[in-house]
Amino acid sequence: MTAPKKDTMKTNTLKQKTNPLNGFSHEDIGDEHLYTGLKTPLRADAFKLSDTEKKERIAILFEEIMDVMGLDLTDDSLKGTPKRVAKMYVDEIFSGLNPKNKPKVALFDNKYQYNQMLVEKNITFYSNCEHHFVPIIGTAHVAYISSGTVIGLSKLNRIVQYYAKRPQVQERLTNQIAEELKAILNTSDVAVIIDAKHLCVSSRGIQDDTSATVTTYYGGQFNTAQKISELQNYLKQ
Ligand SMILES: [Zn+2]
Repeated sequence: MTAPKKDTMKTNTLKQKTNPLNGFSHEDIGDEHLYTGLKTPLRADAFKLSDTEKKERIAILFEEIMDVMGLDLTDDSLKGTPKRVAKMYVDEIFSGLNPKNKPKVALFDNKYQYNQMLVEKNITFYSNCEHHFVPIIGTAHVAYISSGTVIGLSKLNRIVQYYAKRPQVQERLTNQIAEELKAILNTSDVAVIIDAKHLCVSSRGIQDDTSATVTTYYGGQFNTAQKISELQNYLKQ
């Protein structure tokens, strides 16, 4: 049996093209997944509505989508769906859009003077593709070399989850996690590797069930062949 083919994308540069569409229209682009920048494209007034107001609005709009599709909203099974979806969007799967949900991170002195890489591997996450609003299911591995402070291990996991709970593209998710770790830990010696399956590729469109997408960010000391191979070795174990 052959191993599943993996598309490898290197995203360790944050410089993006100023014209990501390159002259193509959105219709031309179709199913191609575009990545337009590090920041999630949010409007300045994104949080003018409260969470409660957002849930009310989304429930009304989702009910309309179901209605347009001809679903019978008086059916007992469907009746509660608009409100359930609204609650799930705001409180769960897209809760990482709101900065108030950002994990609070306490730092500690590196009192053991541990100055090798620390790797937190196999962090499972669930995100959603911003082009199709269907799940991205994946594993993140994050690593850093302390510049004097250390972070609680569960916080590494929480940072991954926070950025995953947004409409996402994998390259941005990778870079957002890396930039957050760099800022918190005050070092550029940070690595992030994400291996994920996109349901918009496997369950629809091209319907490829075996491909996965790998994105990487290697900052500072991690951007050397030696550190990358050391890190890859830990991930294999
Ligand atoms: Zn998609």
